[in-house]
Amino acid sequence: MQRLSSYALGAWHSGGKNAAIISNPTTLEPVAECSTEGIDFAAVTRHGRESGGPALRAMTFGQRGALLKDLSAAIHEHREELIAIGCQDGGNTRGDAKFDIDGATGTLAAYAHLAQSLGDQPFLQAGDQIQLGRTKRFGGLHISVPREGIAVHINAFNFPAWGMAEKMACAILAGVPVIEKPGTPTAVLAWSVAQIIVESGILPEGAFQFLCGSVGDLLDHLGPQDALAFTGSAATGAKLKAHPGLVARNVRVNIEADSLNAAVLAPDVDPSSNTYSLFLSNLVLDLTQKAGQKCTAVRRICVPSDRVEEVTSDLVAALGRVVQGDPADSKSRMGPLASEAAFEGVRAGIARLSEHARIACGGPEPAADRGCFIAPTLLVAEDPRTAIFHEEEVFGPVATVLPYGGSPEEAVELVVLGQGSLVASLYSSDSAWTRTFVLGIAPWHGRVWIGSERCAEQALPPGMVLPSMVHGGPGRAGGGEELGAERGLDFYLQRVAIQGFKGLLDSEFSQPR
Ligand code: NAP
Repeated sequence: MQRLSSYALGAWHSGGKNAAIISNPTTLEPVAECSTEGIDFAAVTRHGRESGGPALRAMTFGQRGALLKDLSAAIHEHREELIAIGCQDGGNTRGDAKFDIDGATGTLAAYAHLAQSLGDQPFLQAGDQIQLGRTKRFGGLHISVPREGIAVHINAFNFPAWGMAEKMACAILAGVPVIEKPGTPTAVLAWSVAQIIVESGILPEGAFQFLCGSVGDLLDHLGPQDALAFTGSAATGAKLKAHPGLVARNVRVNIEADSLNAAVLAPDVDPSSNTYSLFLSNLVLDLTQKAGQKCTAVRRICVPSDRVEEVTSDLVAALGRVVQGDPADSKSRMGPLASEAAFEGVRAGIARLSEHARIACGGPEPAADRGCFIAPTLLVAEDPRTAIFHEEEVFGPVATVLPYGGSPEEAVELVVLGQGSLVASLYSSDSAWTRTFVLGIAPWHGRVWIGSERCAEQALPPGMVLPSMVHGGPGRAGGGEELGAERGLDFYLQRVAIQGFKGLLDSEFSQPR
């Protein structure tokens, strides 16, 4: 069996005897194992701080952007072999694997592009200089400088390439070295990307370390200049946030957790309109892409009560046309869940939802004789306010139709029961309805997507995370914020107010604009 190694302290380590086993979710055959046993995690953190950090900080933002551009190109060069690994070992269809890998290279390239506009000072100026004294002689401004620590990135299993690249792009551009830990069920792909990164020699030694397996006591060694960015379930996020060492030393923590994203059909959308077609096709995409294992996938579909039967039957018909099967087969449009644990978790979740909802298609039974296959599952709620629909994320091809009365206020009331989400999507061409709804749900969301007749033909799907837009959400979604172009760097930078003589602020601490 293949042994996935970790890259730490400038060398690859294969770990010890107690290894986690990774299986192919299509065949259930074991394909790889990994272990971090024997790695000195305190030394790993020191190596990042003492080697990687100074080397990155000696560069300008523009120079670090050039590293990201080269990394994007190096990974892209191996695109076909990475897609094959995603399909063979990760249960991805070719489309799913492309989405992950192109997402990774695209995000690195986008941050490389952004770097060109950040100037060549070792800091970024945030906002304008302001007068503080009686005259302009005494003023103040804010600048952001790279923190002198390391960034630990703990990633979820669903986007082994994109998830890692997204976090790395922001940290490396900010000048902070990274320690990446992938989700174990899909670590084969993350490890393959890590190998490309290390072998490319693009990053200075110590700027990139990769731990395949448990992080052991790593978090005990984080200090006040360090950062932990986590993506995964709300339960693990809550555990990490409460880590006594992180709390005691005020380590920065960003949590990207799970989310019960809603899609809302407004009453004005005609069944023959482009907006309605987009509503159906985006829902089918969310339920089937990555077998529904996307943090941004819709879990709650809010539909005016008098349209529930029509929407349900249209969705059931469209989902019935999706070919599910071995992802290696080019005819398959939907593969299995990523692991047996995910498979059992989703089956149990559907069973619990179905105690309060009718199953319109799919269900908890396996969709194949072998492998982690679950059919796209649509449920229709008996009472849309029942807590389980707003509290339990079933991380698979599963969503529930929730009827509502048709007013924006009722839709808001239903959507915010999710207690904070990454993204909500609205389908409407009624501007007044849209405004009331969007302002009502905005405090509870990181992103609101609006599909209407005016943009239906151009709209990117709401489940797509973009480097130029904020990713994250309040409350249940973890309270974190990633990406959003320059905003994504904030987590890794220290903002400091500088006060003094205006001439000095102008000559030494200002950026040309
Ligand atoms: P998970 O079980 O919470 O694991 C996430 C990561 O945390 C994995 O790397 C895991 O490692 C690690 N981990 C688990 N326990 C840990 C501990 N005690 N100390 C340190 N690390 C620990 O989540 P998952 O099953 O991988 O991912 C699915 C979840 O992620 C879903 O709920 C989904 O909504 C969420 N997600 C959110 C976003 C977002 O941006 N908000 C994006 C993607 C996914 P092992 O794999 O080795 O256990």
